[in-house]
Amino acid sequence: MNERVKDEVPDPEARHCYCGLWITHPDHFAGQDLPRGYCGHCQSCGRPGHTRHFPGASPYTGSWCDRHYRQLMFVHPLGTYGQFFWIVLIGLLAAAYFLARR
Ligand SMILES: [Zn+2]
Ligand SMILES: [Zn+2]
Repeated sequence: MNERVKDEVPDPEARHCYCGLWITHPDHFAGQDLPRGYCGHCQSCGRPGHTRHFPGASPYTGSWCDRHYRQLMFVHPLGTYGQFFWIVLIGLLAAAYFLARR
């Protein structure tokens, strides 16, 4: 393993992304116009980001920068926290509805 390359690449285990390819198959990124240490272009803003699994209950893999990945996690109805947020919101609306009917 090339130690110098390893130093420049974020730990792929930290994000569960494809950055490990920088160490094992750097050729994979040739011609993709990506700076070292990124493994995909964000599908929301086009900036360099990381290709990884959707942050929640959806069998989907995409590329996001850290900012949009977090946004997705909180805002998307299927995101790890987004899911919870919408369930709570719907629960509160349902409770308000039933209380108002009394
Ligand atoms: Zn990555
Ligand atoms: Zn982005």
